[in-house]
Parts: sequence; structure tokens; C-alpha cells
Amino acid sequence: MEGFFAELGEKPFRAVQVIKWIHQRGVYDFDAMTDLSKALRAKLSELCEVRLPEVIFDQRSADGTRKWLLRLDGGNAIETVFIPEPNRGTLCVSSQVGCALECSFCSTATQGFNRNLTIAEIIGQLRFAVSALAEEGRKVTNVVFMGMGEPLLNFNNVVAAASLMVDDHAYGLSKRRVTISTSGVVPALYRLAEATDVSLAVSLHAPNDELRDQLVPINKKYPIAELLPACRNYLGNNPHRRITWEYVMLDGVNDQDEHARQLARLLAGIPSKINLIPFNPFPGSRYRRSSPERIQRFARILQQAGYVTTTRRTRGDDIDGACGQLVGKVHDRTRRRFRREQQAPAAGV
Ligand code: SAH
Repeated sequence: MEGFFAELGEKPFRAVQVIKWIHQRGVYDFDAMTDLSKALRAKLSELCEVRLPEVIFDQRSADGTRKWLLRLDGGNAIETVFIPEPNRGTLCVSSQVGCALECSFCSTATQGFNRNLTIAEIIGQLRFAVSALAEEGRKVTNVVFMGMGEPLLNFNNVVAAASLMVDDHAYGLSKRRVTISTSGVVPALYRLAEATDVSLAVSLHAPNDELRDQLVPINKKYPIAELLPACRNYLGNNPHRRITWEYVMLDGVNDQDEHARQLARLLAGIPSKINLIPFNPFPGSRYRRSSPERIQRFARILQQAGYVTTTRRTRGDDIDGACGQLVGKVHDRTRRRFRREQQAPAAGV
């Protein structure tokens, strides 16, 4: 923004003024930005446009979760989800149209991939939600990059959007309340450590390579032995930071006592929180959710080994707004669906 104003022959502080109008006050009309000169306001109106994403669907779950389908260019659409809790409100944002990875338990993966979201399309989800929720007196206190897409494969735009989220001139969220979730793109994790210190969640889902290769295929490229040091490095020397490990609970696949014990050994020495996610089914999915008793027992083994372990409450599943259920509307450029249909149906995992 400073570069943009410099090109117009304006002082750098104009950037902060405009960012405050747009992101703090939700004012999108340059004529109303009264601390800018009339001439600059006129120039901005001529050159720029501030537009919120357009809503295609606005769905409310019985539990208060809200899911919006937002229109992008060219017929693509993404999903953004708001999850209210008594003392906080979490917005789950998308970073890509579809996803290029092929995690076998995720419905976004079945949609294929079209493109990265721009910085505007990412931060636009937050700006939009803040306005929409203000009408009912709700606030966004946390943001998680856990919607559609792999954030670290859209590195620059995700980092720029995250920095606006934590910027006091924009949303001023604490960096502990902005979480980037990744399936483990190892080189990007090292770059991320240089670029930001927001919170990190890692989709581990399995305690060994053999199983993780099947669930999170990017593991074949970046196996666990490379992933863990990259995560450790992200924490730096700050004793207050932790990695959140996400672990989807798939009945009979990765949910046995032995898996829990293996996981406990694997993470020894890394400041960790473990978040168990009951599997959310979707049409055509080949897994079942572990039983509540199984999940409880799995959690107990980890807790006894000294790990803070929580189980994610399933929210918004009646509107397909839960983890792994977001599909948006993706004009697939990978022909993934076509390739899938050519293959014989997978014979279980
Ligand atoms: N690509 C990033 C961001 C997605 S975050 C990542 O992999 O971390 C969404 C979280 O929900 C991830 O941990 C993902 O593995 C998990 N998830 C995907 N499909 C799911 C499903 N069907 N049920 C429960 N969790 C799922």
C-alpha cells in the first residue's frame, strides 16, 4: 500500500489511513474517508474499488455455526465458516479454490484444484464476516486457515493476509489467535518461520510413514522425519509456543491404542498440543468415524503420556460446514474427477 501511494506521489502514512478506514471501520467509500484530501479521494475513487465478496448461500446450523458460499471470478466459489463459542468466535477461512493435495479423508480433495486466492480474497473473507456478524452482535476473535486449500502452497498471499489480521491498524488479532494449518509442506515451513510467528497447526493424522503415506500423500515427498524438525524449528526458542497436531479419528485405521502410544513416542520433546478430530463423513467417503469411547481412550493414553489433548467438537455438520466437508464450487483444472473415475474404486485403506 505504501508503494502504491508513493506512485501517486503521496506520503506513506496514507496507507495506514486507508487500511484503518477499510479494515477497522468497514468504510468502503473513498468519499467518506474524511482525513484524506478531496483530490486524493477523487483519485482513489477513479483508480480503485473496495468490494466485499458476494454471498451465494448463507447457511445457519442448529448449533449456531454459519457457513457462507462466496462467489469469486469465473464461476468459482469458496466456503467460509464461523463457529461461535461462549467466549470466542472462530472464523475458518479458505486459502485456495479447491486443493491440490489428495488427502484420502477430505472432501475438498475430491473437488480438484483451480487456483490460489489473492490477498484480497483471503482478507475479504474476514472483512465480510466481521460486517455480517456485527449485525447480530457477534465478533471474530480467532481466525484459522482451515478452510479449503493448503495455505503453505499459497505462501505469499497467506502470509500477507495473516499479517493484516494481526496488524493493529487492521484487525489487531493476537498472533496466538491466528492459526495456519498445514499438511506439512516442509520447505515452506522453514520459510514461514522467517516470515511470521502466528500459531501453527499441523495435520499429522498418523504416527508412522506407512500409514501417513496413505492418508496424507504429501508425506511421500516430506516424510515425518523431515516434518518434525521443520515444526520444531518453527517454534524457535520461545518456551510459550506449541505446535497443535491435528489427528483425524478414522475407525479401525489410525485409532488403535498402539497408534496412540506410537504418537506419544514420536512427539516426545516437541512442545505439543494434540487435537483429535472425529472424522466427518461426506458423500462417497470410504471411512467411518471412531466411536466416542475409542476417541476417549485414545485421548487418555496421550494425556497419561503428558500431552494436552482435546477432542474437537463437531460443529456445523448439519450444513456440511465441519472439517473436511467444505467443497465450494471448484472448476477443476487438474481433471482429478476424471482421473478418479478412470481408476478402479479404491479397495479401502
Ligand atoms: N490443508 C490444510 C488446511 C485444512 S485444515 C491442512 O491440511 O492442515 C482442515 C483440517 O481438517 C485438517 O486437519 C484436515 O486434515 C482435517 N480434515 C479433512 N477432512 C476431514 C474430515 N472428513 N473429517 C475431519 N477432519 C478432516
